[in-house]
Amino acid sequence: MVLRTAGFVPESITDGPGIRFVVFCQGCVHHCPGCHNAQTWPFEGGEPWEVQQIFEKLRRDPLVRGVTFSGGEPFCQAAAFAELAQILKQHRYEVAAYSGWTFEELCEKAKTEPETAALLGLLDVLVDGRFEKEQLSLELKFRGSRNQRILDVPASLAAGRAIPKEDGRWK
Ligand code: SF4
Repeated sequence: MVLRTAGFVPESITDGPGIRFVVFCQGCVHHCPGCHNAQTWPFEGGEPWEVQQIFEKLRRDPLVRGVTFSGGEPFCQAAAFAELAQILKQHRYEVAAYSGWTFEELCEKAKTEPETAALLGLLDVLVDGRFEKEQLSLELKFRGSRNQRILDVPASLAAGRAIPKEDGRWK
């Protein structure tokens, strides 16, 4: 499956704990005022990559143990990201994603969108919610505005409500 990408950061330390490979996707429906990645909004831009190619690219770096999906809006390409997440989980990478939708909104979407359910079900961590510039804080780790939450996705899905990630690496 093809994923339309806006770019990659091969060794990021700002999109989650440790050294992570970040996939920035092209296309976003949220258009948050103050977004730092407005060039990723159009869906017709970016560069198409086969999911397997992306995996081959990141697996060459032995320092990378976590992968973060960012954007753009990863859930606008949920099927392709779910395919990538499936491969990553098989190889024991920690998989995190940003989304402008909240966990509750994604759960609602997942009722009618199998690809959304699939991607959500494969994530370890979700950083959720739109960027709100009124709530911007440079002190926050791994998120831009105070309304955004860092969630433990398996625990949240099991509980049926948003559960914060307690792992100290994410705080
Ligand atoms: S969801 Fe992210 S990429 Fe999309 S507009 Fe908001 S901050 Fe920008």
